[in-house]
Amino acid sequence: MYPERGTRADICLAHLQHNIEVFKKRHQGPLIGVVKADAYGHGLARVTDTLKACDALAVATIEEAIQLRTYIPDKRIVLLEGVFNQTELELAIEQNFDLVIHQFYQLDLLMNATVSQPTVAVWLKVDTGMHRLGFDWDDYRQVLSQLQQAKMVSEIRLMAHFAQSDQPENQQTRQQMARHQILQNHGVEVSFSNTGAVLNGLSTAGEWARVGLGLYGISPLSDQFAADFNLKPVMQLSAKLIAIKTVKQGEAVGYSAQFTCPRDMPVGIVGMGYADGYPWSPDHSHVVIRGQRAAVVGRVSMDMLAVDLSVVSQPQIGEPVEIWGGRQPVEQVAADLHTIPYALVCGITGRVKFHVIDPN
Ligand SMILES: *Cc1c(COP(=O)(O)O)cnc(C)c1O
Repeated sequence: MYPERGTRADICLAHLQHNIEVFKKRHQGPLIGVVKADAYGHGLARVTDTLKACDALAVATIEEAIQLRTYIPDKRIVLLEGVFNQTELELAIEQNFDLVIHQFYQLDLLMNATVSQPTVAVWLKVDTGMHRLGFDWDDYRQVLSQLQQAKMVSEIRLMAHFAQSDQPENQQTRQQMARHQILQNHGVEVSFSNTGAVLNGLSTAGEWARVGLGLYGISPLSDQFAADFNLKPVMQLSAKLIAIKTVKQGEAVGYSAQFTCPRDMPVGIVGMGYADGYPWSPDHSHVVIRGQRAAVVGRVSMDMLAVDLSVVSQPQIGEPVEIWGGRQPVEQVAADLHTIPYALVCGITGRVKFHVIDPN
């Protein structure tokens, strides 16, 4: 038997369950589990059963919602960008998706829907300062009253989104908070907070918090890792050492000779490259081998990366290499590579083999 390449992502459902509990304790109110982008790269099919413990789930696209509906026939599913045309609207009504409405074209689509029963639950999105989606501050009251009179609308909630939930003291955040306060005076339920807002204590009691990244055991805050909030990483990404060599002082490793060995040194080749989702970057991070952090050296290639094995005693071919997970949080790798953990977990490609660690 030859050793397998062994590039894999382990998904720990016990950690997911634990993280849901952490957020339920932190936030006094309903919890929307955000599972867009294939559950932030963790696999929608793998995590949905555990995430049923949330009060609702949210996705970005109609395709994601349709897939999700097959796993959860009865649970509330929120379409975060709403629908884009009549076909999607009809599908959404048929499959009982909650619709975000953030532009007048979506209001028109809804008003022209051929349903007379109050069947559609809508989340009216208000732009309180993010300036991405949402009706302008001067327009939303008019839209709200139109929706309140619309015959097809069964439920209305108000939604907004923080631009800098990682900066609770910031001027923009304060201004958004003031507007959110006003939005709470309309006598309808509201939803403002993402992971960063909940972790920073910005969420309002009773609101529907929309939590994505944190559920997967990852912190969006630049100065605090998930462990600081007692959150546990759901994904453990690992590969194996597929080659070991000693490279002489002055010799370069990898494409374009971007790393020159300062001394004779052991170099390990890991079966993890940018085609697996490890970013090609001018910056460098570390991997963990036998509990030791080993520096990535030279350019990341399509299928491999090289590491300095000097810190590892007697490394063997086939040795497991943690890319991120329990010993090195993905937040650390993101910081080293000047990217964000969201992009790293969403970037894992279909070549990586997934395994579910299920406590049940
Ligand atoms: C993705 C998303 C969220 C979740 O954000 P996290 O930082 O992952 O918690 C919340 N609200 C909206 C509108 C989103 O698009």
